[in-house]
Amino acid sequence: MFSYFHFLSGKRKKTDLPPHAQRAQVAREVGPLSFDAFPSYFPSQLIHSSSYSSELYSQLKEKLYGKELLLEELQVTKEEMAPFLKAGLITARIGIQPRKKGYICLRCGTDDLSLFGSYPCARCQQTCIYCRNCIQMGKISTCTLLFRSHFPEETSFETYPQSENDILQWDGQLSLGQQKASDKIVEAIEKRRELLVWAVCGAGKTEVLFHGMAHALKKQFRVLLATPRTDVVLELLPRLRKVFPLTVISGLYSASTEKHLPASIVVATTHQVMRFVDAFDVVIIDEVDAFPYSLDSSLKYAVAKAGKRESATIYLTATPDPTLTSRVQQKTLPAVKIPRRFHGHPLPVPKLSWCGNWERKLKQKEVPKQVWEWCRVRIESGTPVFLFVPSVTSLQQVTDILKKLHPNIEGVHSADEERLTKVSAFREGTIPILVTTTILERGVTVPRVDVAVIGAEQDIFTESALVQIAGRAGRSHNHPTGDVVYFHYGVTAEMNKAITHIKKMNNTPIR
Ligand SMILES: [Zn+2]
Ligand SMILES: [Zn+2]
Repeated sequence: MFSYFHFLSGKRKKTDLPPHAQRAQVAREVGPLSFDAFPSYFPSQLIHSSSYSSELYSQLKEKLYGKELLLEELQVTKEEMAPFLKAGLITARIGIQPRKKGYICLRCGTDDLSLFGSYPCARCQQTCIYCRNCIQMGKISTCTLLFRSHFPEETSFETYPQSENDILQWDGQLSLGQQKASDKIVEAIEKRRELLVWAVCGAGKTEVLFHGMAHALKKQFRVLLATPRTDVVLELLPRLRKVFPLTVISGLYSASTEKHLPASIVVATTHQVMRFVDAFDVVIIDEVDAFPYSLDSSLKYAVAKAGKRESATIYLTATPDPTLTSRVQQKTLPAVKIPRRFHGHPLPVPKLSWCGNWERKLKQKEVPKQVWEWCRVRIESGTPVFLFVPSVTSLQQVTDILKKLHPNIEGVHSADEERLTKVSAFREGTIPILVTTTILERGVTVPRVDVAVIGAEQDIFTESALVQIAGRAGRSHNHPTGDVVYFHYGVTAEMNKAITHIKKMNNTPIR
């Protein structure tokens, strides 16, 4: 983010910014309005209302920390809110702003006309425009206020340790490649710049962040770690809490209960980031290329808005998308590569295995015999297996068929309510084969696992997805290898690209 604004002062014009960054900038420029700008919200009798209770004071302060929220989300009445606004402790601005053409929603950043609707509004007695894009977080309309905190900051850092050794309690060793990336991260945080960390699956990305995060905490910076996936939030939280035992760390995902904690480190799904504004000095985006972050520009907007005007932004990925790689080539984005896994062994190179018309086989209640054999051997040797399938339909078919091989075989997909339970049962070894859609292509680490894809020729298996899937194997120190097979009904360009990608990483020297 910093570099975008840096460019503003230089030769790069505002219109050269990526659209989400332009919109984040518009959102910053719309300042708060004074209390009496909202007569329909706060009629004059409220202005003379009594003072606030100290209980409400600390409650609102906590809830609003670094965020911008609706009255309904704060669960206070207008009468309770009025004295805070009058005292300037809280400011407000209208959530939907008119622009030259159409509108912009300041919460989700959309300016796509098709995402706005209108309705006769009971509150302002007029026809109001509202945002459909972020309506699941509560309706925002042209007469809805977003409230932001201006409470004086008491530093929770006062009693906080001053030495990085106390802040970070970790005695692990970084590999050569990790060390180099770790140094670059510290530098990017120090200079508040952007940095792309391009690390192979299993490079130990989390450990690479430790020193940078400790450095940031020592400087009393607030750190946001945004990831597209709840599974990743759940995996990261305990690890971070263990190595930063004196730091308040909060985890935000749709089902979490700890929504209002003023924390120094926030680990959040990108959707949860939408409520933050100007809150973080360091923004780390994990799996930056992953769905849905890569598809939904309002999530990019949200991450841009959550960072302070001058903040460091670190992008982490094993498979950068073309936008990032072209910025690296144009030298507008500094990058560091970790081509080797933390244990120093190369990535397993996937094998290709033709398995014929597997869809027809599934209809006949069978899996191709190569797949059956491959699974049977692994059940006998007690090797856990991730088996990737292209759709929920094939997931159910494959799971049912393979249950004949072992009754404990299970399938998971994104809408599966038992997803987390099944993943942990698979980790513990009660489930020998976990059949899955691409939801588990990232983040989930199980030692000793072998990996296969059925129907690798399907469109959903892009180069990036196939690289991530292969990256599930051979991640642990004691079992650095693993078998990876793409079972297919015709080799695709994406399959070849994935294999080339992996071989190229394996041949990249660590400089
Ligand atoms: Zn919106
Ligand atoms: Zn209205």
